[in-house]
Amino acid sequence: MTSYDLVIIGGGPIGLACALEARKAKLNYVILEKGCLVNSLYHYPANMTFFSTSERLEIGNVPFVSNNNKPTRAESLEYYRRVAQSHTLNIRLFEEVLSVKKSKKGFTVTSSKERYSTSYVIIATGFYDIPYQLNVPGEELPKVTHYYKDPHFYAFQKVAVIGAQNSAVDAALETWRKGADVTMIIRQSEIGQRVKYWVRPDIINRIEEGSIKVYFNSQVSAIREREIDIQTPDGKVTIANDWVLALTGYEPNLEFLKVCGIRLSKDEVRQPEYDPKTQETNVPGLYLAGVICGGMNTHKLFIENSRIHAEHIIKDIRRKDRVAGSI
Ligand code: FAD
Repeated sequence: MTSYDLVIIGGGPIGLACALEARKAKLNYVILEKGCLVNSLYHYPANMTFFSTSERLEIGNVPFVSNNNKPTRAESLEYYRRVAQSHTLNIRLFEEVLSVKKSKKGFTVTSSKERYSTSYVIIATGFYDIPYQLNVPGEELPKVTHYYKDPHFYAFQKVAVIGAQNSAVDAALETWRKGADVTMIIRQSEIGQRVKYWVRPDIINRIEEGSIKVYFNSQVSAIREREIDIQTPDGKVTIANDWVLALTGYEPNLEFLKVCGIRLSKDEVRQPEYDPKTQETNVPGLYLAGVICGGMNTHKLFIENSRIHAEHIIKDIRRKDRVAGSI
């Protein structure tokens, strides 16, 4: 069993920010990441542009230079990879953490490959792993995806886009511009208010001119090979369909926090219990960082307002180590 001062679970932007701080504090740390480096960002749509300007996505004071003020996904992959490379961050990729258990030293972390003994653990596992399911017949068909990647694939096809937030709106506009016949199915009565302010008028105008069709206050009720059923305020409608992009959001793996001993609030937010000054949870020595801290409120924390967690955590670990006399 390998021994560390700190194990960081998740190699997203915030896990990397924690590693940079740990390195500065001369802690013996490792990041365990179940996929590739910045796995969530890697799986974002190929042409996506961040809503944040590049300096707000910077970590560890490393400058992020992008061609335009809002960087693209490709630029962000380049940036975080260069940060990891230039600081020789200690990261193990394609290694999923399966459990975190209290031990004499602190914790035993078991991954898909190895067991680690560590004094402290940071969980920075993000929110992009578990897509909300539609729970309708046919959802398991290969034509249904919860992760949209690239518009070219959908050219001259009948595409149903489910959802009304940024991901759905971007996918609807991109695929329509590449020649897809797009229908949006939206549970609410309008396009989401949180859609990027420079994109919202675009989608509203495309809908108003009839280029993109939409069913508001409606839900898909069944998916078949060549068509889908939609429950609308005027009853059931069946339309021809080739592909379904179900972009209704993602939920963090809060069950993982629960089995680590972290208490969650009983309401629908399932807010994990932690001290916002230190990020330490109700389990001493176990910290939370990044978007996972918001529980089901995944839109409240993002890179630009959670990168600060790294400093808070490492400061607290150093304080504890000073008290314990180990530094
Ligand atoms: P993540 O980036 O999700 O990283 C978590 C990592 O943990 C992942 O790599 C995952 O593979 C790994 N992991 C999970 N479970 C395990 C496990 N058991 N073992 C090992 N590894 C595990 N934010 C902004 O600030 N500005 C923006 O402009 C912006 N634009 C966005 C656009 C889109 C389309 C989306 C979807 C999100 C956007 N966000 C933006 C949000 C931002 O990407 C997230 O808030 C950010 O990725 C959070 O970083 P994180 O490190 O907390 O989580």
